[in-house]
Amino acid sequence: MTNYATHLNALDARYHLHSQTNAVAHQSRGALMLTGGRGVFVSDIQGRDYLESMSGLWYANLGFSNQRLTEAAHAQLQKLPAYHTFNHRSNDVCAQLSEQLAQIVPLDDARIFYVNSGSEAIDSMVKMAWYYHMAKGQPNRRKIISREGAFHGSTIFGAVVGGLSHMKDGFNLPATDGVVRVSRPSHFREAEKGETEAAYCDRLIAEIEDVIAAHGAESIAAMIAEPIIGAGGVLTPPKGYFSRLSALLQSHGILLLMDEVICGFGRTGNWFGSQTFGAQPDMIAMAKGLTAGYIPMGAVALSGAVYDAIAAQSDQLGVFGHGFTYSGHPTASAVALAALEQYHEMKAPALTARRGQDLTRALEALATDDMIGEVRVEGFIAGIELVADKASRTFFAPELAVGRRFENNALREGLIVRNMGDTIAICPPYIISDDEFDLMITRLRAALMTTRADLHTAA
Ligand code: PMP
Repeated sequence: MTNYATHLNALDARYHLHSQTNAVAHQSRGALMLTGGRGVFVSDIQGRDYLESMSGLWYANLGFSNQRLTEAAHAQLQKLPAYHTFNHRSNDVCAQLSEQLAQIVPLDDARIFYVNSGSEAIDSMVKMAWYYHMAKGQPNRRKIISREGAFHGSTIFGAVVGGLSHMKDGFNLPATDGVVRVSRPSHFREAEKGETEAAYCDRLIAEIEDVIAAHGAESIAAMIAEPIIGAGGVLTPPKGYFSRLSALLQSHGILLLMDEVICGFGRTGNWFGSQTFGAQPDMIAMAKGLTAGYIPMGAVALSGAVYDAIAAQSDQLGVFGHGFTYSGHPTASAVALAALEQYHEMKAPALTARRGQDLTRALEALATDDMIGEVRVEGFIAGIELVADKASRTFFAPELAVGRRFENNALREGLIVRNMGDTIAICPPYIISDDEFDLMITRLRAALMTTRADLHTAA
């Protein structure tokens, strides 16, 4: 390492508490110190390039050097860099963005509310669900149904409503009796032996029916769900799950809040994952792809019916008492507008549907290897399940940390993937070329081979 790289690593280790990182291990392991990005590659301080098959954290759909986005930010910074949207203020870019978003979300007569992150979108969506039921004269509708394995962000309620224990461990979070937990859809890991996808789906829906009956629909405000559970292992729902779920919730007056923070903006072959899976949401949370990650911004889209109730109550109360300093920030809005323009131009939903077929073919070829138990691909996002024995579906012992080894081996090959336990996630930038795509698959295969070799050495 150069002296400069060593110096920066020391600064980082001394002064920076990292997100989602073991703080003690970080002291000895150090940081992957990134300093540049070009197309689908990022480069570290020593000049090594990595193909970013995860689009960072599921956001860099347009890669790391998009000039249109950069120029949009630059131009807006020179014009009106910042302004708030409190107290009847708006800005020209935010108004245009709202129209653009309302046109693509699968909601009738949509309205858009702005935040700075996915977590704030989740918190806002839940607050708005409660506000809605208050407006409708049903203050007892407070409970939120959520699924095991769900990731809904890091704010207090995001962590509480999410279904991942590491997000709660050690925090002494407030009691979770307002959250009703149901199963995650994971046919691969949780279906009974010989249980078909259709029978498994019946069982999941019956469980939610039972939960509603047991708690009483009149106590339940909403159900929250990711179209594809992302950080919980790229779990795709069984066929028919979301359309049946939508009908069930509607019949009980329970709102469906879709967390589209990962799936929004074309990732699954449609503008939104709700469309891919036949969900009929009342609200949609989005972030990440909204600005392709170039600048922090999130949003909640509300149906006209939800908006009308919220608007009427805000009139009675004098104000809608929610919102952030940077809601509708003009520079973020300008970047989002530019990203949307590019998504339209490249026909992002059709493009990811097509590239998804390439990904399916390539990963299915990889999955002839007996260390891969299943690949799940939907549009341009995939999960690869590493297993000890494919035929008997035997998983690796957790202490072998096979997924983590795979991630490290991939990094040595010049490929960034993400492991969630023994599931490897892939979520490539939409702009990846054919050659880069082939390189990604070659490096995945190499990482698989080295991981197998490691395991033989470890055994
Ligand atoms: N929901 C989902 C589905 C996510 O994947 C994430 C982030 N990975 C969030 C919410 C939270 O987003 P943020 O980190 O921007 O707060």
